[in-house]
Amino acid sequence: MPKRNTFTPAQYVEGILRGDRIMLARAMTLVESARPEHRKAAAEIIDRCLPHAGRSLRIGITGTPGAGKSTFIEAFGLELIAQGHRPAVLAIDPSSRISGGSILGDKTRMQQLAADTRAFIRPTPAGRALGGVAPNTRELIFLCEAAGYDRILVETVGVGQSETAVHSMTDFFLLLLIPGAGDELQGIKRGIVEMADLIAINKADEERIKAAQRAQKEYQRALHLFPPKESQWTARVITISALYRKGIEEVRQITEAWQKQMQNSGFLAQNRQRQAIHWLHERIDLALRERFYQHPHMKAELQKTEQKVAQGKWSSLKGAEYLLQILFEKT
Ligand code: GDP
Repeated sequence: MPKRNTFTPAQYVEGILRGDRIMLARAMTLVESARPEHRKAAAEIIDRCLPHAGRSLRIGITGTPGAGKSTFIEAFGLELIAQGHRPAVLAIDPSSRISGGSILGDKTRMQQLAADTRAFIRPTPAGRALGGVAPNTRELIFLCEAAGYDRILVETVGVGQSETAVHSMTDFFLLLLIPGAGDELQGIKRGIVEMADLIAINKADEERIKAAQRAQKEYQRALHLFPPKESQWTARVITISALYRKGIEEVRQITEAWQKQMQNSGFLAQNRQRQAIHWLHERIDLALRERFYQHPHMKAELQKTEQKVAQGKWSSLKGAEYLLQILFEKT
């Protein structure tokens, strides 16, 4: 096989459309690369894949560490395969930049699913490129779809910003919780509960069955307090056991019911259009920030301006306007 950098974007895309997993993985690496020389090729690959993308159900999955996300995704992925689907698993990992670790770094995760050629699991690269919450993940979804994967599972740890990002690139949002883990909302913010289309109380097995049922009722009550969703979908709360593979089929059925309803109502398409516009703005923000900080004179000017602002000679407003003028002067 020739070296990876000898492939043209057209060759990558041809491989992806053929369902070649190695080419898919390599193209993903290019898309995730922060190196300027990779960007052009990556953009071309994405553009060429786009007409072949979109034919999947994109499912966001969140939950605190230990809630059972990997165990669930493996069980769910196998259930999808049994139904003739082809799942792809991606992850947004906010911790990787801090720890250099990765939620998918553990080789023992999802072994059975990983061994199945009908599934594709993308490990998160350690030390992700700068740029906020992985806008690239959305492009990875397109690549997976072009490669024929029809269920895209995007996983995130339930801590902070990344849920909102996942929510804005997926169709269906699943929140995994565990019963009796301290406070009612387990540090999961209300806003995340509000985003969920389905709450699955996991580990409803062994001695936790009763506690899981109690949690189910509590969350059901909590959901009633939220205003109706724009999609008109009524969020549900169920109990499952990822370990014993109970309730996994029900999750699949609920996602299918959702898909059918949202296709019929037009919400699915409408929501994706809105998401595309949202990410256009995210991209603009990112590009502007990048150009700003990479501008040849900016470093020195920024330092000077910081001093002026710190000393109270300039207001921060004036400082920002001054610097932006430098940015736009020559463009
Ligand atoms: P993640 O951090 O959210 O990905 O959670 P994991 O899937 O790694 O699961 C954390 C721990 O909970 C592991 O020891 C799992 O075996 C266990 N676990 C996951 N799902 C269940 C379940 O349904 N029942 C029980 N009893 N344990 C589970």
